[in-house]
Amino acid sequence: MAKKAAGVVFKRCWCPDPVTGRRGGRTCPRLAERAHGSWYFGCYVSDLWGRRRQIRRGGFASKAAVTRARDAVLARSCEQATAHLWTLETWLGFWLSTAGPSTPAPPALTGATSTGISSPPWARYGSPS
Ligand SMILES: [Zn+2]
Repeated sequence: MAKKAAGVVFKRCWCPDPVTGRRGGRTCPRLAERAHGSWYFGCYVSDLWGRRRQIRRGGFASKAAVTRARDAVLARSCEQATAHLWTLETWLGFWLSTAGPSTPAPPALTGATSTGISSPPWARYGSPS
């Protein structure tokens, strides 16, 4: 595993900071207690286009658990990372932007019309009123 892509793991809690009152910091003196706070990680992965995308996850109970989760994210291929980062809206937008007249619709989107992509499947439900 490349050191430069290892990301960070840290512990935080939601006690208000005595000075700023802000929550979610990493300076609470009780963070040394085993059962106080939870573990988070932050790292960068590259998507299919080579863009660096930040991933942050949290709520892990132990440093070992958060390290395993971070390593699993870092071990993903860029295709898997892209699939994980993209929302359905992003995928549909990408597909519509790349679909030509001969591009078959994805299986989940077929059956709504006989004319391909000119009318999306959800069009039959009409516009929200
Ligand atoms: Zn705290």
